[in-house]
Amino acid sequence: MSRIREGDLYRIVTVYGKTFELYYGYYDEIERAGKHTEPIPIYPDLIRYPLYTEDGSPFVTEMQDICSHFLGREGEESCLACRHFEKGDELIGICKCEKRKRDSQQSMCASSKAV
Ligand code: SF4
Repeated sequence: MSRIREGDLYRIVTVYGKTFELYYGYYDEIERAGKHTEPIPIYPDLIRYPLYTEDGSPFVTEMQDICSHFLGREGEESCLACRHFEKGDELIGICKCEKRKRDSQQSMCASSKAV
């Protein structure tokens, strides 16, 4: 029986025109050091390294921390619970908030790095 190893390909998904290669791994050294911890699919850090659709909507993950434009119930902490979230494939989707579109972001935060 083959075991999943860090670095193995989990899936290649195309979400709103952008392709993401998702590999198994760990989010931090504590997880890696855990003796019984299997590697898990690693999703891109889209807060630190923003990516946008052609029309400027930011990609987000379902588990991403909410931003100041969150529209949902109090106490929720991830984009999945936001009414601006639009599901794509796996745990990746896009944010349809007009204030978070690339043009708005560039004027609000000139230092954001688009990959
Ligand atoms: S506005 Fe967009 S980025 Fe902010 S919490 Fe909602 S889905 Fe996430």
